[in-house]
Amino acid sequence: MDSADIVIVGSGHGGAQAAIALRQAGHDAPIAILSRDHTPPYERPPLSKEYLAGEKPLERILIRPETFWEERDIALHLGTNVAEVDWVAHEVVTGDGRRIGYRKLIWSGGGDPRRLSCPGSDLDGIHTVRHRHDVDQLRRELDAGARRAVVVGGGYIGLEAAAVLRKLGCEVTLLEMQPRLLGRVAGETLGEFFLDEHRRQGVDVRLETAVERIDGANGRVTGVVTAAIEGRESETIPADIVIVGIGIVASVGPLIAAGASGSNGVDVDEFCRTTLDDIYAIGDCAAHANAYADGAVIRLESVQNAHDMAACAAKAIMGDKQPYGALPWFWSNQYDLKLQTVGLSLNHDGGVIRGSVADRSFAVVYLREGRVIALDCVNRTRDYAQGRKLVEARAVVDPDLLADSDTPLKEML
Ligand code: FAD
Repeated sequence: MDSADIVIVGSGHGGAQAAIALRQAGHDAPIAILSRDHTPPYERPPLSKEYLAGEKPLERILIRPETFWEERDIALHLGTNVAEVDWVAHEVVTGDGRRIGYRKLIWSGGGDPRRLSCPGSDLDGIHTVRHRHDVDQLRRELDAGARRAVVVGGGYIGLEAAAVLRKLGCEVTLLEMQPRLLGRVAGETLGEFFLDEHRRQGVDVRLETAVERIDGANGRVTGVVTAAIEGRESETIPADIVIVGIGIVASVGPLIAAGASGSNGVDVDEFCRTTLDDIYAIGDCAAHANAYADGAVIRLESVQNAHDMAACAAKAIMGDKQPYGALPWFWSNQYDLKLQTVGLSLNHDGGVIRGSVADRSFAVVYLREGRVIALDCVNRTRDYAQGRKLVEARAVVDPDLLADSDTPLKEML
């Protein structure tokens, strides 16, 4: 192949959905997906949940059956790294030097997991969870008898992995540098709730704890050494495996090198267009002004955002330009807990709890200047479903009424 009408870089949620949306909108010229991944498009959320637990095989996490892509005349070029973008010539250059022309380019490169940079961080047995092969390797080591796990990072991926590892019978220690869990994405109540839950399930959670180095023998990890801080000595935690869940760096190097504007990711406008002609960017790597963050420029790392941006870019390419303004939502499963969040709680200045934290069924309703801006719902699907409308409307509701579990949220609009 030396050209396609639309070239999509990345076969994750954004890339796959962009191709699907284009075909659904009647696009009938050649589409090519170029991706470093070696597996046809698959879902990432199960990687730290059912796939890691061994409860769902690969076939059940494929975004579409394997035959779908050929049937829709979407060419999948797997194992292909895009190393360069020549926006003047409208060509991408692959790692092995092939030049592939396009009329429109959709960049959906997602992100590369951040890695530890301390001594010992390149030992065998240290894992990130981003790709299917990461989890396959982790599973092989678990099957071979690894039992003592250290998880670095108390965000969603670290917590989900910790929950699965406990279920698989591992001893789990979780290290978080911040004074609380989920500090980047949720309010204090939720962080404290998950701290209690994980400790109750037997995870040894250490807050305000950084990694100083990783010890090993014969090239393989044997322990994680924590950094000493005032009043607390350094300690070695024995480990057969280490899982690092400390965020991602947006995979946009070739676009930035080509001159696209961006610092944390690549900047896009309301139609997902980068500053380079005919190049769109979507999903985890796309920095955009988000209406639910009061117009602040942010990147969102969620399936919802990847899907909705894919639809937005596909529509714009098909001449049906509609500005991106989708309501953010997200979920996380840990043990028997189903967390569903809607809206963005960053910059909240108030909060109301509905239901009972002790009974493990509650919603935190986040407020800014008296308006409902987000909800975190734990085992509380009805509040999640009904609360969406309050967030969309940025409704002003009396906090006492919000806290009243007997009054459904849908009656508060
Ligand atoms: P990705 O899905 O990461 O796809 C990026 C693609 O680009 C990959 O195929 C990659 O190989 C390819 N690529 C990158 N650079 C290049 C290049 N230069 N050349 C060629 N190919 C390239 N979201 C939720 O909403 N709920 C959840 O519960 C949830 N759980 C998650 C659990 C895990 C373990 C992970 C990793 C993510 C989770 N997410 C969850 C986030 C969600 O999966 C991402 O937001 C989503 O995958 C983003 O889609 P994307 O297309 O932007 O990026």
